[in-house]
Amino acid sequence: MDEKVSTNRFNDDDCPTTGRYSHLQTFVNNLPYLVMIILGATIFLFTFGSSTTRFTTASIYFLYGIVGAFWIMVFMCPYCRFWGTQSCPCGYGILAERFTRKKNPQLFSEKFKKHIPVIVPLWFIPVISGGIFIVINFSFLLLALVIVFVIDSFIILPVFSKKHGCTDCPQKQDCPWMKGKA
Ligand code: SF4
Repeated sequence: MDEKVSTNRFNDDDCPTTGRYSHLQTFVNNLPYLVMIILGATIFLFTFGSSTTRFTTASIYFLYGIVGAFWIMVFMCPYCRFWGTQSCPCGYGILAERFTRKKNPQLFSEKFKKHIPVIVPLWFIPVISGGIFIVINFSFLLLALVIVFVIDSFIILPVFSKKHGCTDCPQKQDCPWMKGKA
């Protein structure tokens, strides 16, 4: 499909079911992801190697989480109808407007499928590393961290986004994440 830049900016008024999210709501909506990358990095602090290695892997994972968020803003948000509006539940749409241009919203589904896999390993790397280390050198603390990580990233985060922000999205029929659940 032709990747034309849309001349029609999607306004907050076009999202009657969502309205605007306050700064507090936006912050709360980001908490599960923030907790996930903090917990994931903490898991690496208790796994393999010397303290320097563990600190380095924890830092790399945390950085990956931050870069992943910006990856979504750069490569997915410009195709979203919430780009540049305060109707984006997590505030990425407003941030994305500062360094991207609006693109064709009809390509959103395609871009979603292409770019979401970039951040998917964030959900699995800490569980795999932590799980291997628990088998090799069992620790209750690490087990607790992995369990809390799994609860946050695999239960709280998806339920939170589906029930809260995504459920009001006018683009949900185009979104592979919400298709069939709307
Ligand atoms: S709703 Fe999702 S894709 Fe749309 S602007 Fe917000 S973060 Fe980006």
